[in-house]
Amino acid sequence: MSNVSRRTALKALGTGGAMGAAALSGCATVSATTAAHATPFTVAATTIPIVGSTEVFPVRRIYCIGRNYAAHAREMGSDPTREPPFFFQKPTDAIQFVPPGQTIDHPYPPLTKNYHYEIELVAALKSGGRNISIDDALKHVYGYALGLDMTRRDLQRAMGDEKKPWEIGKSFDKSAPVGPIHRVNDIGHFSKGQIQLLVNGAVKQSADLNQMIWSVAEQISKLSAAFELMAGDIIYSGTPENVGPVVRGDVMLGKLTGLPDISVKVV
Ligand code: MN
Repeated sequence: MSNVSRRTALKALGTGGAMGAAALSGCATVSATTAAHATPFTVAATTIPIVGSTEVFPVRRIYCIGRNYAAHAREMGSDPTREPPFFFQKPTDAIQFVPPGQTIDHPYPPLTKNYHYEIELVAALKSGGRNISIDDALKHVYGYALGLDMTRRDLQRAMGDEKKPWEIGKSFDKSAPVGPIHRVNDIGHFSKGQIQLLVNGAVKQSADLNQMIWSVAEQISKLSAAFELMAGDIIYSGTPENVGPVVRGDVMLGKLTGLPDISVKVV
């Protein structure tokens, strides 16, 4: 951009000064004023429908906790008694919405020969902060959903073996199928209840949320020590044991006491 057109643009912004200059120089300004700027193309917002509402939940970040059930930690080769919680992220647009009462097609992803399900409770935040206490943590939860943390296990393991990031194993397109969000006001909080994953009608994973090593409140507290949490963040709270593979044609059915099932066919 020429100096002349830059000046013209600044004038047009009517803001001048540091804010306008920062916006024009390409700094990521998280501000309502940026919404007024024209963009050269459109990027779709990621949202999740909210049960009982015409509003949708805008997703900011997807956090996932690893090895949060002791038996799953053991099957992954770690010691659940000594390990502090750890987290990874999926890209926001990894969300694939799964409407209740339907079986949606989910594409088998490229590069893997060992594609795994992980059924998980998902907490959705309406507010956030840093260093949130365990006692205050649940005040930030807007609602809950049931989701799948789909995993290219072979790629995850290979990268882990080489001490490289899990990204390619965890954070790929459509790796986060999720049902609608149920508001806390309607459904309360989840600290216990049966969670299950069936494949083609056979139970593969079955556990109780009360077996989570770190509760949702503890997860929020721990996460907020590392990241500033914000409204729109969602947290996959970890999978029980007996993760396993699916192939094309398999139908995964996720169940959590108190929520409608989610049904996903691998195609
Ligand atoms: Mn997981």
